[in-house]
Amino acid sequence: VELPIHEAVLGRASEFGDTPALIDGADGTVLTYEQLDRFHRRVAAALAEAGVGKGDVLALHSPNTVAFPIAFYAATRAGASVTTVHPLATAEEFAKQLDDSGARWIVTVSPFLQTARRAAELAGGIAEIFVCDSAPGHRSLIDMLASAAPEPSVDIDPVEDVAALPYSSGTTGTPKGVMLTHRQIATNLAQLAPTIPMGPGDRILAVLPFFHIYGLTALMNAPLRQGATVVVLPRFDLETYLAAIQTHRITALYVAPPIVLALAKHPAVAQYDLSSVRYVISAAAPLDAGLAAACAERLNLPPLGQAYGMTELSPGTHVVPLEAMREAPPGTVGKLIAGTEMRIVSLDDPDQDLGVGGTGEILIRGPQVMKGYRGRPDATAAMIDTDGWLHTGDIGRVEEGGWLFVVDRVKELIKYKGFQVAPAELEALLLTHPAIADAAVIGAYNDDGNEVPHAFVVRRPTAPDLAEGEVAMYVAERVAPYKRIRQVTFIDAVPRAASGKILRRQLREAETP
Ligand code: ATP
Ligand code: MG
Repeated sequence: VELPIHEAVLGRASEFGDTPALIDGADGTVLTYEQLDRFHRRVAAALAEAGVGKGDVLALHSPNTVAFPIAFYAATRAGASVTTVHPLATAEEFAKQLDDSGARWIVTVSPFLQTARRAAELAGGIAEIFVCDSAPGHRSLIDMLASAAPEPSVDIDPVEDVAALPYSSGTTGTPKGVMLTHRQIATNLAQLAPTIPMGPGDRILAVLPFFHIYGLTALMNAPLRQGATVVVLPRFDLETYLAAIQTHRITALYVAPPIVLALAKHPAVAQYDLSSVRYVISAAAPLDAGLAAACAERLNLPPLGQAYGMTELSPGTHVVPLEAMREAPPGTVGKLIAGTEMRIVSLDDPDQDLGVGGTGEILIRGPQVMKGYRGRPDATAAMIDTDGWLHTGDIGRVEEGGWLFVVDRVKELIKYKGFQVAPAELEALLLTHPAIADAAVIGAYNDDGNEVPHAFVVRRPTAPDLAEGEVAMYVAERVAPYKRIRQVTFIDAVPRAASGKILRRQLREAETP
């Protein structure tokens, strides 16, 4: 699809007119499609007048708000690439991203303005900081709505120009800036749309962060492209989330596994009317089939669907189509979307393709494969081979009917005496223990130099006496001997990225001082 992203997403805005595009879940502020379209054009004009233009990078530093898409599409319309920043990043982290992305402009919100200012000082080279709301000494998007400047006429090349520069989650290392062109994102939206059709009347609850590719695509671009309504929450708090579903009659939930865990286990769920929800889709990290089933049963829903992707894939390649949610085998992340190729290759010999049922690395080729990592040709070449195949670093297998199952990441596999153990499998098993609230597993070296599974466990408040031995025994009774948990540490909370992924790296660092 050769369209600038703001055209691909908002091209039908006038058709949707008075339909609410976004609703602020906290204060009820409504932004209609007509307003979103008009406002982002006005802000684009004002940004262009301020000097934002083609080739510039603008850092968008904001929690989920109704103004987020105005800032995002205004910036791309002005010709800039948008690099989205974690609103809770420290000034140092933010400065690093400013530096790495080459950003010259910042759009932030007043509660985080001090951090943005400090980051700009540290990084240098920032021309101006705008705010979405208002703050003394800074131009605000609200003032910009009154701009009389002409709409910018920028010549955007959808094939070459970078629309978004999100950073990967940093699960396996330092987050990398991923260059996604207008065409890559617009094409992926078009590829995904038929699998989960939506339109005016659908209400999506947007709690996963827009700054991460999953929230950006599934919660912002995709619904707005199709005329659905996005109800925005700035952060996940279970009771607020449940209340928002009830109040706004939410029809679809896009979640990550920690939210599925909360929905499946938390007692508060029973106190809310969640009957408006028609389906739930989980992505971003491995989701255990048993947990998914428990969640669906509790919410009285059809089985949960999953989707699979990564920042480098704009982001989607697999999804369980809405119409197939009942028949899809439990635990699958879905089927390959149109216009995309996949291979599963042997972990020992990447030239060897595996057939149905074979477990190996997932390789992807298609129009949604990123342009590259910004400023890192070596890292890009390590990821995308000369034939255009992107090596995901994820392990999977395809079963009859084309259903993909993701086992875990190649890097996370624990190699115990020649056997391979997937942490995700053990984590899922641990979560079935009634006294365990949350769990993470990493490979750790024991005294004889063997890599063994080490579990980090969060006890339920009602089970403060749960002992290490009981945890290890529970697993030992249910798995082959080589998968047994050899070490257990109790912790208060499992460290997770904003996208819901377990930060095993942090657990590892805590273990090896
Ligand atoms: P980094 O690349 O910086 O280490 P990251 O890989 O976590 O971080 P993202 O691009 O946010 O950054 O995440 C993509 C990864 O998320 C995939 O490679 C895969 O490991 C995981 N993932 C996504 N969807 C699923 C899913 N449905 N099931 C299992 N894993 C998933
Ligand atoms: Mg990655």
